[in-house]
Amino acid sequence: MRIANAGGRAHVLVGDRGVDVATASAGRFGHDPMEIFARWDEFRAWMAATDLVGGEIIDTGILGAPSPRPRQVFAVASNYNGRASILDVSPDLPVVFTKFPGSIVGPNAPLPLPSATVDWEVELVVVIGRPARHVSGAEAWNVVAGVTVGQDFSERTLQLGGAAKQFSLGKSFPNFGPTGPVLVTPDELTDPDNIRLECLVNGESMQDARTASMIFPVAELIARLSAVCELFPGDLIFTGTPGGMGMSMTPQRYLAVGDEVLSRIEGVGEFRTKCMVVPTP
Ligand code: ZN
Repeated sequence: MRIANAGGRAHVLVGDRGVDVATASAGRFGHDPMEIFARWDEFRAWMAATDLVGGEIIDTGILGAPSPRPRQVFAVASNYNGRASILDVSPDLPVVFTKFPGSIVGPNAPLPLPSATVDWEVELVVVIGRPARHVSGAEAWNVVAGVTVGQDFSERTLQLGGAAKQFSLGKSFPNFGPTGPVLVTPDELTDPDNIRLECLVNGESMQDARTASMIFPVAELIARLSAVCELFPGDLIFTGTPGGMGMSMTPQRYLAVGDEVLSRIEGVGEFRTKCMVVPTP
């Protein structure tokens, strides 16, 4: 199943058409995409019992974040094998930070550049569908509503320049967390642990890897995070980025006004982010 947030209303995609969940369910479910996650089991049961027909062609220009108001946003640093790390990573412990939820936007949002050192990081983003605490790795995919494409845009000067590394702040400027274009449930994917992800800047390939080379796979991340925090429906996990970031190039390369970043995940979708000047207040 593929679910879209079109203009703030939850839609289930049937082919190239979107069925409005609130309308099709005669109001049993509201229009808010967050309600789908809060009532995930009930929603899945209703979906399984309903013959969805009709719908309308979705205007991709009005797509919003699949989970627009997550209560928590987890993110993981240096989670891919074979990538030059900016950290001294222990193989026993994932490095976790947050992107503050206000940075989360949909797939059409432009990227205002607050500095000349903003970098790209394409990532598989997991959306939680069930409250989760002390979930085992074997059970972990069962608490996932679906996955989507994300960019963990990063302002490197703020992230790395302080007395301690400020991952959370440096990755939370406005629009630094675009997600979309849709949410895809894990059963739609041939192997949810082995998906190709790519990032292109102005058409040039920068990142191209598979999630099978994660150091801590999705299930392991959920087990470790839920051992500490309760995970809530609609929460996001940015699962880390593979090699090919601009900061690890020689010379280093960063985003400039007018650049276009293409983020793509096989079987999930893609979106384009246009870099712009910070609007004057
Ligand atoms: Zn990242």
